[in-house]
Amino acid sequence: MKRYSALSLIEQGLRGQKGWPPAWRAATPKPRYDVVIIGGGGHGLATAYYLAKNHRVTNVAVLERGWIGGGNSGRNTTIIRSNYYYPQSIALFELALTLYERLSLDLNFNIMFSQRGLVVAGNSRHDMETIAKLIGAMQLLGVDVEELSVEEVRKAVPALDCSPNARYPVWGGFRQRRAGTARHDAVVWGYARAADALGVEIIENCEATGFERSPTGAIKAVETSHGRIACDKAAIVVAGHSSVLAAAAGFRLPVTSYALQAFVSEPVKPVLDVVCWTLATGVYVSQSDKGGLVFGGGLDLYPSYAQRGNLPIAQSVVGTLAEQFPSFGRIRLLRQWAGIVDVVHDSSPIIDETPIPGLYMNCGWGTGGFKAIPAGGYLLAHHIATGRSHDIGAPFSLNRFRTGALIDEAAGAGIAH
Ligand SMILES: Cc1cc2nc3c(=O)[nH]c(=O)nc-3n(C[C@H](O)[C@H](O)[C@H](O)COP(=O)(O)OP(=O)(O)OC[C@H]3O[C@@H](n4cnc5c(N)ncnc54)[C@H](O)[C@@H]3O)c2cc1C
Repeated sequence: MKRYSALSLIEQGLRGQKGWPPAWRAATPKPRYDVVIIGGGGHGLATAYYLAKNHRVTNVAVLERGWIGGGNSGRNTTIIRSNYYYPQSIALFELALTLYERLSLDLNFNIMFSQRGLVVAGNSRHDMETIAKLIGAMQLLGVDVEELSVEEVRKAVPALDCSPNARYPVWGGFRQRRAGTARHDAVVWGYARAADALGVEIIENCEATGFERSPTGAIKAVETSHGRIACDKAAIVVAGHSSVLAAAAGFRLPVTSYALQAFVSEPVKPVLDVVCWTLATGVYVSQSDKGGLVFGGGLDLYPSYAQRGNLPIAQSVVGTLAEQFPSFGRIRLLRQWAGIVDVVHDSSPIIDETPIPGLYMNCGWGTGGFKAIPAGGYLLAHHIATGRSHDIGAPFSLNRFRTGALIDEAAGAGIAH
């Protein structure tokens, strides 16, 4: 891998930018790998990277049925934060945030991580009770978070209507200063380039269609649109399509797939320098480096694999944003899109070996897995390489749906999905 640096930039500048090598090789599948990872999103690529970097497992293929980052990892609104309620979740998302904080250096790729802070506004007495409970839990576990008065919310987000007559009156809120955004494509490309440099092969346009098992029941090969690929271990890391591949492998998952929409406006001058989210509506917004307002809200209301999103939700999210931020009401919408997210009943992820020995999975991140990419990859790589789940990953087992030891962030943190 040719390292990116100020010097290499000048060197290439003098050569008319003609000498940059491709960031990763376009591999064709070998007949056999030690580990095959299905899904070239952030979590799949991060798993491959940490397998190679932390565990020296380098005979690894990442299979992606389209192009890497073409799933949710390239469709999200890029918010990174760690404000959850349960200690298990806080440990998980703090691990991710800590890894994000040094990821550009680690990958030698600028992921444009901007710790501009997150401001969450409460819109009722009940929201303020939730906020007090959340702040207590987070502060106990060392997460940086501070309570905000209405005046402090107004100061942090001047465009938000905090007047007493507002459609959604603001009662107060909280701020996490270490939260922020990163460039989603850069996270995907950075992991791909760094994994490739360590020997991982990234195979795009290659769809996994089934699994072959040994007489003992363990995984033996992955069937793909490019033919059979033998492996010792495999991992399903396909977000909204997890249930489809689980069915192909012969087991069921407690995962439902929904479309989640996002929106970006035409670029405007700097108007918002934090990520802002309001509890009453679930609508959130940040401003991208290009000036566009990037925003979203709740899920489409019925399960679907159509990556378009339906009009009633689009109308409701856009309308709510305009009600909360009256000055945004006349800004034109540039684009709208959707991704298929993998929602689990307790709104917590699954990082575990499946009922099929040697077949692992990482899914269930729902609407919030971009911020977890480094941790999801780190923990799954640990489990695959050592055969044991990492202490931070252990609570996120499939077994919790049998034992009832759910980590119910839907109830705890008030996140809907
Ligand atoms: C609109 C929207 C906004 C979001 N906003 C945020 C946010 O602000 N913050 C946050 O933390 N999270 C957010 N998320 C969630 C986040 O994007 C996801 O949780 C995360 O990207 C999941 O990463 P992944 O690698 O698991 O999945 P993906 O990036 O979806 O990757 C899975 C890959 O698997 C591939 N695949 C599927 N089936 C097969 C197959 N059979 N064979 C081979 N490949 C296959 C797909 O093509 C895809 O590329 C948002 C999601 C959406 C849709």
